[in-house]
Amino acid sequence: MKKEECIARAEKVLMHTYARYQVVLDHGEGVYLYDTDGKKYLDFSAGIAVFALGYGDEKYNEAIKEQAGKLLHTSNYYYNEPTTFAAEKLVKASGMSRVFFTNSGTEAIEGAIKLARKYYYKKHGTADSEIIAMEHSFHGRSMGALSVTGTSKYRAAFEPLIGGAVFAEYNKLESVKAKITEKTAAVIMETVQGEGGIYPADKEFLQGVRKLCDEKGILLILDEIQCGMGRTGTMYAYQQYGVLPDIMTTAKALGCGVPVGAFAATEEVAAAYEPGDHGTTYGGNPFVTHAVSTVFDRFEELNLLANVKETGAYLYEQLEALSSRHTDSITAHRGVGLMQGLEFKNPVKDIITRAMDAGLILIAAGTNIIRFVPPLVIKKEHVDEMIGILEKSL
Ligand SMILES: *Cc1c(COP(=O)(O)O)cnc(C)c1O
Repeated sequence: MKKEECIARAEKVLMHTYARYQVVLDHGEGVYLYDTDGKKYLDFSAGIAVFALGYGDEKYNEAIKEQAGKLLHTSNYYYNEPTTFAAEKLVKASGMSRVFFTNSGTEAIEGAIKLARKYYYKKHGTADSEIIAMEHSFHGRSMGALSVTGTSKYRAAFEPLIGGAVFAEYNKLESVKAKITEKTAAVIMETVQGEGGIYPADKEFLQGVRKLCDEKGILLILDEIQCGMGRTGTMYAYQQYGVLPDIMTTAKALGCGVPVGAFAATEEVAAAYEPGDHGTTYGGNPFVTHAVSTVFDRFEELNLLANVKETGAYLYEQLEALSSRHTDSITAHRGVGLMQGLEFKNPVKDIITRAMDAGLILIAAGTNIIRFVPPLVIKKEHVDEMIGILEKSL
């Protein structure tokens, strides 16, 4: 089918929730994507920080084919091996004790919020809990996740949302302190804010929030849906801060393309959930969890964390150099590992469109920030190629 025909047909039947780029993607290979005209694109977005292994990883593809031929779905009324293995690996990677698999990141946030509320309810006997979230945060589009998402334009039309959510300023400990009441059940935050503009938590801030939560008996929920799964150089970003959350959420690269997320918690907190409190029909079925299990294996086999550290540091240097050559248009550079952002004076949509015409896929975070979240298998030569195309697109 011609590209124009596909776009026209899609525009007739899909809801207009996205202003899509005028490209019809067809297949992928390594860190490159190809459209239906055979045009090649270097991929620095990885389907929004999802495709960590790059496209066409043979062992991953074989694993999902094998599981597809064996057993896709059973419901959570029974046990199965892939789900057990995946949960064991996630527990080990995260430092948490128990896992609940979901179908998306948003659903992991819903489960985490419910768990925090249930924990509070068991402790206080009342259903009047509050949750402190951060300004500029992003946690998803369902009613619960939206309630703790800090961008008011995403929320405004959908009020009333769930009650009891208040917002504090990210990286300002005093602001969090000021929002605490005796009803505060949890603080929820991204360890590195993604959608809000690639803002890593300051060490003193995250450690300070952890200490505050400990003192006041408040749960700390860390959303690692985007910054987790190796993207910052450790399996989970909080591992670089010397803190553990009480509940964490993960998704995006967890399944590297199959729809799966999870929330995990400490033994004590997880115990607040009893049979009947929470559920999902598809969540954590053997198909997706076999993918998760394979992803964890591939991370080790490919030594991906070392590559993120090395190539991430190189990307940092190169983006610093690019920024210093374009101080007229680039106002800031932030990030860690393979999760970085360049902030511009003006909206970046035109730059991204020009880069795409020149064979480079980039995504924005907010309106003025280009976010760099490539597959974690990316090499220095790909960084050089990206910088070359981006510089010409400025
Ligand atoms: C993407 C994202 C979500 C939502 O995940 P979905 O899989 O899109 O539902 C939540 N939190 C953060 C930090 C994210 O980046």
